Amino acid sequence: MQRQARRDTRAELLLRSELHRRGLRYRVHQRPVPAFRREADVVFRRARVAVFVDGCFWHGCPDHVSWPKANSAWWREKIQANVQRDRETDRALVDAGWVVVRVWEHEDPLRAADRIESTVRARA
Ligand SMILES: [Zn+2]
Repeated sequence: MQRQARRDTRAELLLRSELHRRGLRYRVHQRPVPAFRREADVVFRRARVAVFVDGCFWHGCPDHVSWPKANSAWWREKIQANVQRDRETDRALVDAGWVVVRVWEHEDPLRAADRIESTVRARA
């Protein structure tokens, strides 16, 4: 189990290379809204689309969350706090005029790229 939150996960790299292959250009690991201290994994500044690639463990994927047996109450609280923070991030960005696309690390990168591409092109 991956217990450390990481950047540049395999899911993220696959998704980014697929988006690039489709001719989309983006920034990585930037704050969509500078005054709001949260970074998105992929940022389309002109279209104002922020993409987050959420790890199944850390973000409480309903299909794959697995509670560690040791300190399970602590982990549960920790992960629930992450999920709550994600929802707060979504709300703040939407309020600032952004569209948020969340991708699970278990998702097929081609299908995730389809969702992102259509969102970006619709707003370009
Ligand atoms: Zn999952």
